[in-house]
Amino acid sequence: MSEKRKITVAYGDGIGPEIMQATIDILIAAGAQIETEVIEIGEKVFRKGISTGIADESWNSIKKNKVFLKAPITTPQGGGFKSLNVATRTTLGLFANVRPCRSFFPYVPTNHPLTDMVIIRENEEDLYAGIEHQQTNEVVQALKLISRPGSEKIIRYAFEYAKVYGRRRVTCMTKDNIMKQVDGLFHKIFDEVAREYPEIEHNHMIIDIGSAIIADRPHSLDVVVTENLYGDIISDIAAQVTGSVGLGGSANIGEDVAMFEAIHGSAPDIAGLDIANPSGLINAACMMLVHINQQKVAENIKNAWLKTIEDGIHTSDIYNKDSLRKVWTQEFAKEVILRLGQEPVRLRPEHYKEGDTMSKIKLSKRPKSIKELVGVDIFLDWDEDGRDPNKLGKKLKAIKQSGTELKIITNRGVKVYPDGHPETFCSDHWRCRFMSKEEGKSISHDQVLALLNEIKGSELDFIKIENMYTFDGERGYSLAQGE
Ligand code: NAD
Repeated sequence: MSEKRKITVAYGDGIGPEIMQATIDILIAAGAQIETEVIEIGEKVFRKGISTGIADESWNSIKKNKVFLKAPITTPQGGGFKSLNVATRTTLGLFANVRPCRSFFPYVPTNHPLTDMVIIRENEEDLYAGIEHQQTNEVVQALKLISRPGSEKIIRYAFEYAKVYGRRRVTCMTKDNIMKQVDGLFHKIFDEVAREYPEIEHNHMIIDIGSAIIADRPHSLDVVVTENLYGDIISDIAAQVTGSVGLGGSANIGEDVAMFEAIHGSAPDIAGLDIANPSGLINAACMMLVHINQQKVAENIKNAWLKTIEDGIHTSDIYNKDSLRKVWTQEFAKEVILRLGQEPVRLRPEHYKEGDTMSKIKLSKRPKSIKELVGVDIFLDWDEDGRDPNKLGKKLKAIKQSGTELKIITNRGVKVYPDGHPETFCSDHWRCRFMSKEEGKSISHDQVLALLNEIKGSELDFIKIENMYTFDGERGYSLAQGE
């Protein structure tokens, strides 16, 4: 048996204390070699005026122990409070969100009895950076940032996960038919990494059809890896199709620290009634035990839990006509404890191997590419001349373009100049693309500044610019619709 491992525990808000008590009782009864250090997070901390819901000394406990078992918390509405979950993930570099979604049919009713998939969601990038700006009277924007190392890390993690847990296939989901640069990069890295795992099947799906398949045929999927926002959405769909969001646990894995929690919230509507289902947190605790190399204890708890479910001992949220007995939260924990050492008969038992844990992901080394500035997109706030794109085009053609040439104007991505269609609706937000006059030749920052000065001189309001680069000669920007 492994040495006693210190872990940080937070009892959270709402049903948190009840389900955490039930979980800890089971962990202790199963002989988990852990020592808990309790921290306070959530409502009480928010009320003290700490906007993140966690005090500095609590961060230190998590950083020191490196393993955090967390009950759900209530985020107060309004008042500038920040999401503790987002803060924990980004502050501690918890790059991978791992969410197994398995059906427990017929004990938990579901239309998809064979579901057994794992969603691996990138946790640190994408639209969650929260970089948003209002640029004109009518238009706001959010920046979607996807990096090569961020994508490679999560994709490698997904393949490693599949290898360690004996899973057959990894499916990548993106929307790269539309976002050719950002989602295109994620897909490209997926294909690159997949080549290093020939023993694991791989495929790619566009996220919309991928989500439809999760809702309709989840049993056809195995491991799914995706970006942050898509992962957020599909992991809830996947949890729901298994029959109950009250059963799922999730892990947030970083290279140094990992956090484990139930996927549901603090359920204030049933807090203090001892009727909450502690299964989500119990399942998260099993993932934690695997992570800290206490696989045998994890297996023992998981199989006792499966047997309890199979025996029809159910909390009220999953209690149905075929259940044997409705139990309270703490009573459920006692029933699991009674079944330690047993395995389910009809439900598939789970087994974990030693070393079923991975968080150190080695990234491939790539030489730095040669970057060349070949053009600039200048965005204008323009609401004159009846928003006639030809008039704007004429104005811009009239200025000195210092080695560049106006190629195209788009409005919300659609080409409106030259040769636009009068039917296209135009907002007050214009993207004007200036490319190097000599094709394939780079331009300088001085030329861009001169161009901006000319634009300013003709009393046009530029609101931002995006430089256009090639990297090793490859285009690093998307073409406009109709370009
Ligand atoms: P919720 O998941 O707390 O509850 C949704 C519904 O599911 C409720 O009817 C609730 O009674 C039920 N439910 C949830 N967990 C259950 C369980 N274990 N057993 C039985 N029934 C259960 O979602 P919500 O109501 O949208 O959010 C409540 C609070 O939780 C909010 O303050 C929200 O910010 C917070 N929240 C926290 C986390 C987290 O800490 N990880 C996650 C989601 C929501």
